[in-house]
Amino acid sequence: MQGSSENSRSSDLPFIEVARTFSIMERITSRTQLTLALVKLVKKTPPQVIDKLVYLIQGKLGPEWKDIPELGVGEKLLIKAIALAYKVPEERVVKTYQSIGDLGTVAERFSEEYKSKRRGRGVGLLAFMEEEVEPLTLSRVYNTLLRVAYAQGENSRDLKLRLLAGLLSDAEPLEAKYIVRFVEGRLRVGIGDATVMDALAAAYGGGPHAREIIERAYNLRADLGYIARLLVEKGIDALKNIHPQVGVPIRPMLAERGRDPAEILRKVGGKALVEYKYDGERGQIHKDGDKVWIFSRRLENITRMYPDVVEMVRNHVKAEKAIIEGEIVAINPDTMELLPFQLLMQRKRKHDIHKVMKEVPVAVFLFDNMMRGDEDLTSKPLPARRRSLEEIIEKTDVFTLARGIYTDNPEELWNFFLQAIEEGAEGVMVKAIHEGSIYRAGIRGWLWVKLKKDYKSEMVDTVDLVVVGAFYGKGKRGGKLSSLLMAAYSPSTDTFRTVCKVATGFTDEELERMQDMLKPHIIPHKHPRVDSKITPDVWIEPKFVAEILGAELTLSPMHTCCMNRVRQGVGISIRFPRFIRWRPDKAPEDATTEDELYEMYTRQLRRVEEEA
Ligand code: ATP
Repeated sequence: MQGSSENSRSSDLPFIEVARTFSIMERITSRTQLTLALVKLVKKTPPQVIDKLVYLIQGKLGPEWKDIPELGVGEKLLIKAIALAYKVPEERVVKTYQSIGDLGTVAERFSEEYKSKRRGRGVGLLAFMEEEVEPLTLSRVYNTLLRVAYAQGENSRDLKLRLLAGLLSDAEPLEAKYIVRFVEGRLRVGIGDATVMDALAAAYGGGPHAREIIERAYNLRADLGYIARLLVEKGIDALKNIHPQVGVPIRPMLAERGRDPAEILRKVGGKALVEYKYDGERGQIHKDGDKVWIFSRRLENITRMYPDVVEMVRNHVKAEKAIIEGEIVAINPDTMELLPFQLLMQRKRKHDIHKVMKEVPVAVFLFDNMMRGDEDLTSKPLPARRRSLEEIIEKTDVFTLARGIYTDNPEELWNFFLQAIEEGAEGVMVKAIHEGSIYRAGIRGWLWVKLKKDYKSEMVDTVDLVVVGAFYGKGKRGGKLSSLLMAAYSPSTDTFRTVCKVATGFTDEELERMQDMLKPHIIPHKHPRVDSKITPDVWIEPKFVAEILGAELTLSPMHTCCMNRVRQGVGISIRFPRFIRWRPDKAPEDATTEDELYEMYTRQLRRVEEEA
C-alpha cells in the first residue's frame, strides 16, 4: 500500500508546491525573479504532469482551440461551494466577501477556520479523519476542474457544486485561495507564454539556445503544455524535429508595415508577390479527409461559425490532408463585391448560424499552404507554397486564391495598391519570394509587408496598445476610471512599455462598460512585465488591447517605450491619442511592438524632412 502511494506521488506534484509558488509570484515585481520562481517549480514537476502545470499557469485547462467548455461557475455558485465545503452559512461567505473583496482570500480564511475547528475537536474519530485527508496533487486539482468544465446539461450545476466543494474541503488554505482564483479566471500571477518558455529552457534545455528551439516548436504546434511535456520526456532534440500536425494550429506568420513602395520592395529583396490585403477574418484551414477545422488569428476554433466554408473545403481541396490559409470575407454574391469586416462579425453575434450564413455570405481568398499530405511546406519558399496551393485547389468564385501579381516595379505596386482599395480591399501585402521566403510561423518580420490605405493619411497610423493602468476622472467622471495608461509590447524583453495616456474617444456607454471590464483586473502593484515611469491611480493586469489613433509621434521623458533609442533620457509617445475601439481579437503580445513604433517615428521624421 505504502509503496503504491509513494509511486503515484512521485509521478505527481503536491498542489501545495504550486500554491506556494503562486503566492510568492504574486509579490514579485521583477520579471527575472518571476522566471526564477517558475524554474524552481518546473524542476520539481514530474514529466507526466508538466503539461497540466503549464495549462494552470496559463489560467486555462488546455489550449483555446481544443474547445474545452468554460468552467461555467459564476460567483454565486462559487460562494455556495465555499459554504458547503467549510460548513458555514452562505450569508457569512457573502458578508466576508463584501468586506474583503476577493473570493480567493475568503476561501483561504474559511478553510483556516474549518481546519482549526477540526483540530480543536481533534480527539477520537475526528482526529483520525483529519489524518486521513490526502494532500491534494496537481493531477487531482486539474482533473477535478476538467470534470467541472465537462459537467453539462441537467443537474450539472449540482455536480459542479459538489466537485468544487469536495476539492476545497480537502485543500490547504493557500491551495483553496488559488483554486478559487483560477475558477474565477483571476489567477493574476502575471506569467505569459514567453516566461514559461524561458523557464522551460533554463530548467530542461540547457539555457538560451534552447529557448529558440522551444519557441519554434510552439510556433508550429500551438500547445505549450504538449511542447513542455515533449521537452521534459524526450529532450530538446525531439523539439528540433517537430512538424505541423493537422488538427493542431500553427501560430500565424505576421507582417511588418510599410509606406513607400520602393522602400518596401527593397526590404523584401527586390521582386515580390503583391496580393490584395482583404479585410475579413483570417482562417487557418485544416483538412483530414472529411474532417475540417478552421482556426482564427488567435487560434480559436471557429469552425462552427463557417459551415459554408467547411463545405467549400470538403468539395474543393483536392488533397486528402492539408493545412492552408486564407482570408474569409463578407461579399455580395450577386456582384462579388467585397463587404466590410463589421458585417462579417455579425456571424459571431448571432446564434442561428445557418440563417446568418444566408444573410452574410462569404468568400475565401487563399494565400498560403503550410502542409500537403504529410509534407511540411513551412520551410519551402513562398513561390513553391503558392504553386502547391494552386495544385490542390479547385477554384470557384467564392473559394479562390488571393489576387496577386509578381513585380519588382514600385509604380506597378502602387497601381495595384490603388486597384485593391478601389475594389474594397484594405491595401496590399507585399511578400518576399527569394529562397529564404519560408513560412515563419508566429513571427512578425520583413518577409511580409503590409501597405494599408490609412497609411496615406497625414495622421499617425492607428496602433494597438495594451492597458497597464488607469486614472480616476474628475467632475462628471469623478470616481470613475476614465483615462488609461497604454503600453506597447517589447518582444525581446517580454515587457510592456508605456506610450501614452488616453482620455478621449470614449462614449458614456463605453465608459460605463469599461468600469466593469477593468475592475476585476486591478492589481495591487505594478505588474512585473510592465515598465513605467508613471504611477497610475490603479495598476491593471496587461490583458486588454485597444486601437488608438493619434495626431503624431513625439519624444517624451515620461514614457518608457523606445527609451534612450532616439535620444538619451526620452522615449516615444503619441500626441492627442484617441480611443477608437477595443481589439478583443488581439492578445497583449499581439499589440504594436516597440520596434514598430520606432519605425513609425523614423518614417515620420523622414516625411517631415522631405516636406521641409
Ligand atoms: P491588422 O491589425 O492590420 O489587421 P494584424 O496585426 O491582424 O493586422 P498583420 O500581420 O499585421 O496582422 O496583417 C496580416 C493580416 O492581414 C493577416 O492576419 C490576414 O488576416 C490579413 N490578410 C488579408 N489578406 C491577406 C493576404 N493576401 N496575405 C496575408 N494576410 C492577409
